[in-house]
Amino acid sequence: SQVFLNGDYMPMADAKISPMDRGFLFGDGIYEVIPCYDKKLVGFKPHIARLTDGLAALEIANPYTEQQWRDICLTLADQNPEPNLGIYLHVSRGTDSKRYHAYPDDIKPTVYAFTFEVPTPPVADISKAKAYKVALEQDLRWQHCNIKSTALLGNVMHFQQGYKKGLNETILYNQQDEITEASSSNVFIVEGNTIKTPPLDNQLLPGITRLLVLKVLRQFSEFDVQEVTFTKETLLAADEVWITSSTKEIAPVIEVGGHAIGDGTIGKVWLAAQALFSQYKFEE
Ligand code: PMP
Repeated sequence: SQVFLNGDYMPMADAKISPMDRGFLFGDGIYEVIPCYDKKLVGFKPHIARLTDGLAALEIANPYTEQQWRDICLTLADQNPEPNLGIYLHVSRGTDSKRYHAYPDDIKPTVYAFTFEVPTPPVADISKAKAYKVALEQDLRWQHCNIKSTALLGNVMHFQQGYKKGLNETILYNQQDEITEASSSNVFIVEGNTIKTPPLDNQLLPGITRLLVLKVLRQFSEFDVQEVTFTKETLLAADEVWITSSTKEIAPVIEVGGHAIGDGTIGKVWLAAQALFSQYKFEE
């Protein structure tokens, strides 16, 4: 496949990065994944706004304008013909001559972008939807989970805990038993006519799918949509649980930590939410 590295497009096999890159040595960088279906980007502006915020948090100068980022995404989509793509963008602090923790002030960021094929986006159809069974673990990551850092080992270890039990994701709770997010997704629950997701803070990533789902539900549905804290006991007693991410969209969860959610089947509110999301996701 064709990739982008530091201003040039090239076959992936030709993309070379120094082993002294701080992305490699420290995980010192920020990344994004933007879905692209038939060359249409989902949530492009908020994805780039989050990238900009993450770079500012690490004091890395954003190397490109929003328009330049859009050009990179669309050029990669042109050069990689698959209709359903994830576009991965990665900015590391760059390559230094030594390995030293302090930020060097004379290096240029390394910018790498590639595409990967994703499944066709989920359709609002209970008979075709993938029902997720997930693990439930205490969140043992760091306290800057709002930063989309390339240092993902905490997330990787939590994902692996579920994966080795044959599960597709791991939902996380903090020391107060409050749900934060999942290892690579945000979390929603449904109680009757109410849809809840944890409020944004340093314990979770401000997911773009989360943002778009909240927006679509508030604009086009009658559900009572709340950003509120809830505990793992509340989650286990909910009628429905969903996890959201750019590649999964809204994924229905039927089992958490070995407990069935609701009646153990995909819920009706999921169906309504995914139908609205499928219809309106390209708005931005
Ligand atoms: N939380 C974490 C920890 C993630 O890694 C991700 C993205 N994979 C999400 C939430 C969902 O974010 P988005 O909807 O922007 O993909």
